[in-house]
Amino acid sequence: MDKADIEAVKAANPILDVLRDLGIPAQNNRIRCLKPEGHAHGDRTPSVSVWPDRGQFKCWVCADVKGDVIDLVRLARGCTFREALDYLGRNTFGTAPLPPLRPRPKASPASAHPAPPGPGGDEPSTLQESLPALGSLLRESPPPPPDAEVEDDILRHRVLAALLEACAPISGKVAQYLQKRRIFKRTWDGQRLRMIDDYAGVSRKLEAAFGLADLERAGFFNAAGHLRFYRHKLLFPYLDPQGRAVYMQARAIEADAKPKELSMAGHIPLPYNSRLLNGEPGQIYLCEGVIDTLTLIEQGFPAVGVPGAANFKPSWAALFRNKSVHVAFDPDAPGESGAAKAIEKLQAHGIEARRLTPPTGMDLNDWFRKG
Ligand SMILES: [Zn+2]
Repeated sequence: MDKADIEAVKAANPILDVLRDLGIPAQNNRIRCLKPEGHAHGDRTPSVSVWPDRGQFKCWVCADVKGDVIDLVRLARGCTFREALDYLGRNTFGTAPLPPLRPRPKASPASAHPAPPGPGGDEPSTLQESLPALGSLLRESPPPPPDAEVEDDILRHRVLAALLEACAPISGKVAQYLQKRRIFKRTWDGQRLRMIDDYAGVSRKLEAAFGLADLERAGFFNAAGHLRFYRHKLLFPYLDPQGRAVYMQARAIEADAKPKELSMAGHIPLPYNSRLLNGEPGQIYLCEGVIDTLTLIEQGFPAVGVPGAANFKPSWAALFRNKSVHVAFDPDAPGESGAAKAIEKLQAHGIEARRLTPPTGMDLNDWFRKG
């Protein structure tokens, strides 16, 4: 079997069909991880994305759970590459018998994440003896990545998770900064705010885990090899509905710092505090900037935020379904123009949206603190 045959096997086996055949339920192109022992709660909230158009899958947590339909069968059935090909070959050639299956290895903490097969990996030597072409294919062509953009997203999310993990809870000057804005512990804990209190230590941990090249590629380190958030030590993670950080903004707390905020590289996947956008009927306040959003959250208002007035993405409008939206951007020119655009996009989706303007000369933070 040569490379063209393998491509034929893949082409004849759409990944969603293979999942169904394997008895793995997929919902919205997500499945539970094939190595659930590497996850909390056995990956009850599915962590593996499936791309039907490319025939690929990838776990957002486990580095070694990814690939094409052949890898999927290998992982799901605990079989070899060759056995997976035979299994899939039924659909392609109609003649190959079902391979005998090995039992899946039992999970144990020590073997939760074995090294992926590859050069010098765990493929049996008999395979390479009987199928030299396949053996060299295994050595030379690991499964291609889904695509560069998805790979970059995955890298950014992993670095972000590691950064937040290496950071400290809010205290000291950062706590004072927030308290001065009437934002208190209940809110900063609820939103999982963190601070970089040990810049050198955090830098070292990230470098040890990822290496400088990937940290630069992901936009967390600059070209000189330094973590970008030196003065910007207060971190606001953007959490997805599963509570995973998918984006971040960093804020400097010194009055003279410019710019006041630094954003993470890459696209902004969701508004801030988007977990409130659950499709259930209710009021929602749409704020400009994280500090304004936190101010309203502290006061008990259901609030979500955009990083800046011009950052409301058309693709976000649908997330606000069933909500009645009060757009509380700043009463200045960028705020007015951004609010008008956001309202237009929301209304185009049949979502009720109106402008909420604080009295002249007050921003939302002042207004809600006084009110
Ligand atoms: Zn996983």
